[in-house]
Amino acid sequence: MLPSFFESVLQLIVRTSTDLPPDVRAAMKHALVSEPEGTRASQALTIIAQNIDLAVDTEGAICQDTGMPTFEIKVPVGANQIWMRQQIREAVAEATRRGKLRPNSVDSITGANSGNNLGPGTPIIHFDQWDKDQIEIKLILKGGGCENTNAQYAVPVELPHLGRADRTLEGVKKCILHAIWQAQGKGCAPGAVGVCIGGDRTSGYLHAKEQLFRSLDDVNPDPRLAELEASIMGKVNDLEIGPMGFGGKVTLIGCKIGALNRLPASFFVSVAYDCWAFRRLGITLDATTGAITNWLYRDPSNPIIPMLDQAGFARTGREVALKAPLNPADVRALKVGDVVLVSGRMFTGRDAVHSYLMKHDAPVDLQGSVLYHCGPVVVKDETVPSGWRVTAAGPTTSIREEPYQGEIIKKYGVRVVIGKGGMGAKTLAALKEHGAVYLNAIGGAAQFYARSIKRVDGVSLLDFGTPEALWHLDVENFPAIVTMDAHGNSLHKDIEQESGKHLEAIGV
Ligand code: SF4
Repeated sequence: MLPSFFESVLQLIVRTSTDLPPDVRAAMKHALVSEPEGTRASQALTIIAQNIDLAVDTEGAICQDTGMPTFEIKVPVGANQIWMRQQIREAVAEATRRGKLRPNSVDSITGANSGNNLGPGTPIIHFDQWDKDQIEIKLILKGGGCENTNAQYAVPVELPHLGRADRTLEGVKKCILHAIWQAQGKGCAPGAVGVCIGGDRTSGYLHAKEQLFRSLDDVNPDPRLAELEASIMGKVNDLEIGPMGFGGKVTLIGCKIGALNRLPASFFVSVAYDCWAFRRLGITLDATTGAITNWLYRDPSNPIIPMLDQAGFARTGREVALKAPLNPADVRALKVGDVVLVSGRMFTGRDAVHSYLMKHDAPVDLQGSVLYHCGPVVVKDETVPSGWRVTAAGPTTSIREEPYQGEIIKKYGVRVVIGKGGMGAKTLAALKEHGAVYLNAIGGAAQFYARSIKRVDGVSLLDFGTPEALWHLDVENFPAIVTMDAHGNSLHKDIEQESGKHLEAIGV
């Protein structure tokens, strides 16, 4: 067999998870210089840039949601795909053991996490044969927050703010703009979209995701699609959704469009949204040894250019220090737009914890607490008292907890909820009624936030798996922005309404 194949795939996984490709770096660097200094957008991008640098320096996961590993493989005729598939699965399990991938594969019926990223449908591996005498493997790691913002349209369709989208390229453009507007900051903007015009519901989504394997700076060989891509990129930033949905000049860093034939009765437009943590790399391998002969998307002879040439997140002196546990007066003094630095005890909780807290008593005292929507990457470490160390800990998408959050704030006296993408009307009402705030942390900044965590002080509900457990963390100067306050104000609602008006103005 190919003696170096396993090691090559493992290297590919680790690099993809920890080191963004140059085209994405260049786009993010351009975004960074496009947002005026001192704005929320600029602060968010500075944290993101610092996070990108930290991930490379420490070979840590760029984002704690290391996503669904999707491999696209081309092999010479006669290659043993059964053996390769097995090797790839073992490499995924090994990368998970090493903390480079978070255990992300969950049984959809029982909710049990397999712990090693293996299970039915995980990872996704697609093989194709080609007539070259080498192996090509491309990998994309796409997380759940951006996956949840994917959209598929059956046109003709009526779209809010845009009117009817017909079965024309103009109609397609409306669908794409609508999908980006609908995503707001939930998919960790600025993102990139892969689009498929046509196909059926299944092949449309697949082809849309395949577009994300294209380099951001390439030009579509089909001039009609090249024009459409350019036209979207020319207009989309007028939406002013901005990084993390905070408002700003950069909403999208790439738009890649493909087309498939369709049935006469169907016309689908499928949009795959990827976040700024656009982890995509590839390798070519010697077909006789499995050794890496070339890296795709990046040239290893070129050194990695740091995203930041200065210290990173700079304090303005206007930040508000919060020390948990908090009382209602502490949080009622905060208003939308305030930048806060949280210190003290923080508890993580996401889907499984919220569902549990609705039916059972809390395993810890949550009065005055800070609840962080986060599924961290946590590894065993016998050198620290708790035996655990957090290696990546950015926020997860909060809107999933909307059905529970208001009730949990009321029942347990939670004062601060931290996540990303904002929450809805029920939570906003609960924040006002019970004196609590929602803070938006910077999505994907897993390395940056891991450094604010000084120690793990315990864990509850570990049966749910490490990402879903309730971790007890001691944090210091954890920065976030108040985006929903205790007075009924929501930056997310405001930006959605404002960008909706821009969408109407853009038209097509
Ligand atoms: S950057 Fe945001 S959307 Fe992307 S994987 Fe991380 S948490 Fe999910």
